[in-house]
Amino acid sequence: MSVIAFAVGNIPLIKANDDIARILCEKSELKRHDIVVISSTIVSKSEGRIIPLGTVKSTEMAKTIADKNKNDPRFVQAVLDESEEVLLESPFLLVRTKTGSICVNAGIDHSNVEGSDNILLLPEDPDASALKIKDSIFKYTGKKVSVVITDTNGRAFRMGQTGAAIGIAGIRATRDWRGTEDLFGRVLEVKNEAVVDEIAGFANILMGEGNGGTPIVIIHGLNLYHESCGIKELYRPEDEDVIRRVLINKKYEK
Ligand code: GDP
Ligand code: MN
Ligand code: MN
Repeated sequence: MSVIAFAVGNIPLIKANDDIARILCEKSELKRHDIVVISSTIVSKSEGRIIPLGTVKSTEMAKTIADKNKNDPRFVQAVLDESEEVLLESPFLLVRTKTGSICVNAGIDHSNVEGSDNILLLPEDPDASALKIKDSIFKYTGKKVSVVITDTNGRAFRMGQTGAAIGIAGIRATRDWRGTEDLFGRVLEVKNEAVVDEIAGFANILMGEGNGGTPIVIIHGLNLYHESCGIKELYRPEDEDVIRRVLINKKYEK
């Protein structure tokens, strides 16, 4: 199998209400069942998810956490406003967002955002954003493609950051190997491969983190197209999440 992946050139700075699907279709020739990988940063910008820090009013809780982490209390407040649950306050703020993703600072970013006082929230409903872009691409080209929205995330236990999928459409989150056999006829019992994270990780190499201006990657030849899907398949159910339980219990012991 041979796979081609490339970053789309000449994407402008994205502003609120920009039509990412249309911009993409003008700059590239998509083929059936291509995978379109898009950085959440530009999806958020197109959805107007920029907040000037000056407009955020911080609560006592935000001030306490900000003090411990040497952070801006208004930034901490913005994180708390996006969160359902705090798993760890310090030395960094680890939360479960309203969409169920567990990540540092609710994925709120300063980098690659115009204006020194502005912060960028993640898309409100990344699966819905992915589906909207997928449907628009179909409208403009008649081609059915998979869409993966990514963000750069740190990982527990390992240094360094990688791309992670935060919203998907037209592709299953996982490829299930359970029930199939290994080389020696043993039946696999656990393996459920998180393919959209693997795709996000690879596409992130081509996007880069800095001033590359390459927020969209097209992957041709993998063909993982599937109609129904959602990123929630990757979110560990609360009662099975051992690490989350340990963190929360530790917090309440204090
Ligand atoms: P994140 O991983 O989604 O948080 O996004 P990054 O800040 O790491 O940016 C990923 C890539 O998108 C980098 O190559 C950035 O230069 C690029 N990028 C970010 N915003 C824009 C934009 O508005 N227009 C263009 N053309 N590129 C952008
Ligand atoms: Mn980000
Ligand atoms: Mn990034």
